[in-house]
Amino acid sequence: MQVLVAGGAGYIGSHAVYQLIRAGHGVIVYDNLSTGQREAVHPEARFVQADIRDQTALETVFAQEAAAGRPVEVAMHFAAKLIVPESLTQPLAYYQNNVEGLRTMLAAMVERGVPNIVFSSTAAVYGEPISPVCLEDSPTLPINPYGETKLACERMIRWVCAAHGMNYAIFRYFNVAGADSSLQIGLNKDQLTHLIPLIMQSALGLRERLEIYGNDYDTPDGTCIRDYIHVSDLAQAHVLGAEYLTQNKGSLLANLGSGHGYSVSEVVAAAERMFSFKWGFAPRRAGDPAKLTADISRARELLGWQPQLSLEQMLRSDYDYRRKISEG
Ligand code: UDP
Repeated sequence: MQVLVAGGAGYIGSHAVYQLIRAGHGVIVYDNLSTGQREAVHPEARFVQADIRDQTALETVFAQEAAAGRPVEVAMHFAAKLIVPESLTQPLAYYQNNVEGLRTMLAAMVERGVPNIVFSSTAAVYGEPISPVCLEDSPTLPINPYGETKLACERMIRWVCAAHGMNYAIFRYFNVAGADSSLQIGLNKDQLTHLIPLIMQSALGLRERLEIYGNDYDTPDGTCIRDYIHVSDLAQAHVLGAEYLTQNKGSLLANLGSGHGYSVSEVVAAAERMFSFKWGFAPRRAGDPAKLTADISRARELLGWQPQLSLEQMLRSDYDYRRKISEG
């Protein structure tokens, strides 16, 4: 199948591209390189540098592929802004990029008859979870513009697909970490905020110490519990999701996590068994719920998907990738 991946030069998009190509699919990476990197584009993918809000450019790509006898069957959407604190200070940029970007992509798809969309959503749509284990039909009450725009996008997709006879796979991600086994791609950003990359920067001596934000939460060891999923497992779910759509099985919305919770102290302890680094406790970070994990039975059942890679493999691959990029 032929897949257009908007945002395919970014962290998760580039991993989806690698897995699609390994599965034998054709890929067009469509990215404006605002945060993505040219080096992250798989050498076997066709690359188009353009903006998701440029409907003419998108339609041109769809038309070119159709004329070449390989019409795009699935469009994947990863081209979004995703930093929660930034979304709180620049909400309009989030509506513009995330909501208007998706609207434009859907308009181009409708115009050119592209029948299927795979969309990156987030556990942030659940907001402050009422229950620590999120099911897809748990209440969605986002507490920041990032989650709010993703929820608006989910709803737009449902309406547009219903009106135009299209199908969707919407995936809500939990805590994504790690790097592709080739170490060609990984999370490469100037400003890292996520736990695992910050641990690895400490282990590589790029940061003085890791701070654990809060040890007085209502959890067994007092630190927050999250559901960490290896980016390659997550990417594989996108391949299965795209195949599900092209096999005309209908639409789906599913959580993607490991289905297993680790506390921050447990992640730090696992990392300490592999690397040496300094850490200490610090005050709570604003907006962190005590426990957030995924029920992943729906993705398992509908896609036959099962995460394969362990927490240790997430830690190791992030370390190896980070060491590689720090050595230039
Ligand atoms: N965390 C931490 N120290 C850090 C970064 C994160 O203790 O330097 C904690 C954070 O408070 C949360 C968990 O690790 O409880 C996961 O945070 P992350 O930013 O990786 O992802 P989030 O769950 O916020 O999407």
